[in-house]
Amino acid sequence: MARPRSKIDITCQNPKCCYYLIEDGKDIVKRGKNRAGHQQYFCNHCKSWFVETANTPLYHKHLPLSEIILICKLLVEKLGIRGIERATGHHRDTICQLLGDLAIHAEAMTQFLSKDVKLTPFEVDELWSTVKKKQKKVKSGSTGANHEGDIWIFTCVKLGSYLFLAYSLGSRTQEVCRDMVELVFGRTKLPTPVIR
Ligand SMILES: [Zn+2]
Repeated sequence: MARPRSKIDITCQNPKCCYYLIEDGKDIVKRGKNRAGHQQYFCNHCKSWFVETANTPLYHKHLPLSEIILICKLLVEKLGIRGIERATGHHRDTICQLLGDLAIHAEAMTQFLSKDVKLTPFEVDELWSTVKKKQKKVKSGSTGANHEGDIWIFTCVKLGSYLFLAYSLGSRTQEVCRDMVELVFGRTKLPTPVIR
């Protein structure tokens, strides 16, 4: 008699599959481990293989999980990239690559989790910062003239909970500010008017 299959929490990670990230009706089986020791899965719908780290910041990483967690903890404590390089012994390019992947993942998680936020007072602010150099030092016509210089960050924080609800980056214009406001509207639960 065939052994009953153990429960598999993972969903298909192939974007072309009709069961991509869908729990109900998925047909996934385990198919051994790869050389890095990660569990491999096979989707019987799209006939594709994927590893358990697919679509996560751990995908295609040579660093062990414990080192990645350590770097994440140091980044959260606002240690600089060169500081982390000295503390952990990993090259700054490795840390920057990981930071980029973590940021993409965090953005997707924020987008997924931040919805139907209750209406309470929000604090909206603008921060000034620079990319590489101040605006007056950027030479017009230089290769980086379009993306270097002053940058403004419009932020929205929910008071009392420190929930960083939305932000937008760019020049100090109404359009950039509107991007942030539209994100806030999309993530909050607005009251529906009662028509009598
Ligand atoms: Zn599939």
